[in-house]
Amino acid sequence: MLNLSSRIPLGEIAVGARLLWNLPAFLRHPISPEEARRTVRQRLDRRETDFLALVLRAIYQHAPNPYLQLLHLAGCEYGDLERLVHQEGVEGALRILYRHGVYLTVDEFKGRRPLVRGGATVAVDPDQLQNPLSGFHVRARTSGSRGAGTFVAVDLASIRDIAANECLSLDARGGIGWVHAHWSVPGGSAIIQILRFSGFGARPVHWFSQVDPASPGLHFRYRWSTRALRLGGTVAGAPLPTPQYVPLDDPLPIARWMADVLRAGGAPHLFTFPSSAVRLCRAAMDAGVDIRGAKFTLGSEPTTEARWAVVRRAGGEPAARYATVECGLIGSGCPVPDAPDDVHLFHDLHGLIPAGPDGETTGLPSRALLISSLRATAPLILLNVSLGDQAVVTQRACGCSLEQLGWTTHLHTIRSFEKLTAGGMTFLDTDVIRVLEEVLPARFGGTPTDYQLSEEEGHEGQPRVRLLVHPAVGPLDSQAVAAALLDAIGAGSGAERVMGLLWRNAGLLQVERRPPVVGASGKIQHLHVGQPDPLGAAARIAH
Ligand SMILES: [Zn+2]
Repeated sequence: MLNLSSRIPLGEIAVGARLLWNLPAFLRHPISPEEARRTVRQRLDRRETDFLALVLRAIYQHAPNPYLQLLHLAGCEYGDLERLVHQEGVEGALRILYRHGVYLTVDEFKGRRPLVRGGATVAVDPDQLQNPLSGFHVRARTSGSRGAGTFVAVDLASIRDIAANECLSLDARGGIGWVHAHWSVPGGSAIIQILRFSGFGARPVHWFSQVDPASPGLHFRYRWSTRALRLGGTVAGAPLPTPQYVPLDDPLPIARWMADVLRAGGAPHLFTFPSSAVRLCRAAMDAGVDIRGAKFTLGSEPTTEARWAVVRRAGGEPAARYATVECGLIGSGCPVPDAPDDVHLFHDLHGLIPAGPDGETTGLPSRALLISSLRATAPLILLNVSLGDQAVVTQRACGCSLEQLGWTTHLHTIRSFEKLTAGGMTFLDTDVIRVLEEVLPARFGGTPTDYQLSEEEGHEGQPRVRLLVHPAVGPLDSQAVAAALLDAIGAGSGAERVMGLLWRNAGLLQVERRPPVVGASGKIQHLHVGQPDPLGAAARIAH
């Protein structure tokens, strides 16, 4: 231990020690559904007051930060904001602020583009966006199709805040008594999710890991926090599981666990990525393992029609959720969904407005979501920030218990709108999803996660675009599948047509028969950027 400590920065030890110190009390007092309902009612009643208090303490009284400069440029002092919120409500005020330049686009938020308003350039330092009122117990890393991502410090109080919403989401599905398990990749996000469920007593019995927890390349932070979790659970008399290696290409141990629970009269519930659920369901069907009645909670990547359909085909009962590392849980699946990813927006935690027609002037799509923090426990202070996602926002009377709690706004078709590039051309994630998940499987067979575009650099940095097709799809004509992809993408509007032609003419696209690459975050992105070494990706986790 001493030997190990000498190589670990003090800051890391302090975070691990803080988690361990605070964990037993957190685990000993799980929230009940009744307490969760009361909490949410109070938050909704105090929404305007809490928002104003947060903006006052974390923005107006906490200079320097980019929002304060934007508010000054817009001529909005605290008293003006107070009047605006009282007159127009939170969202009304946010819309007016947005029209007056108080927002961050995803490029500005991620520091990819300077923040310029009315001729003035405003500096965006990621540290200034951390909530000064919030503590730090677990750190999670944001993912991105490019770049290393940034760290977000998460407090147990924030996890407890969100546990109330998780509790009510599961209760709406009749899931409080289910047998829970978690399957993802090592890191802060997995720990946070396990703690959120533990926060209302739904401690998972299994923690399946898509990466071998004994991999030598894993960052010590991961082992450190796993040990703190285990120890905290033991001290609290609320044991938490240790990670058990179940790789993506052999998910049958999970299917067998589900079948065992079902045979014993229980309801197995797995929290995982949609693409992982597809792998699992397909493996179960191929091996004849009956998982009919198994419950799935799917998040962190798009829950599309095609992915949803595979889970249903295996007899699984999926529900989507929408969460980000930056602001935690944003919405949970409606039990009577209108679309596979139809979720109720948790407006007790966040303010949310779509960019709307005003988006044209800011370069955001009209469906881009601008999110604002409302809770003093929020990890980051967000004020009209685009995280790169868009969705359809609706008010719909679904009649479910989440609606009765006051969550009446729905989001669906939640997608990233960030432009991805391959072979030097840019296109939207949404176009690629359609082709890879629907057009190609319909014509050549296989499931939505069997096709992936991979942009890799050659030895001299030249772009190489590969269409990876899983060998399990069976024999197919490579030229025909490449042509089908180019035809389908080229059928879109201007830029896509140009890209299809360019790729065809330049012979840029090659088909390769190998499994799609799993990213460092454990997700199968539709477009993989980087080197095709899944082991290397696993080793980079948490660095
Ligand atoms: Zn509903």
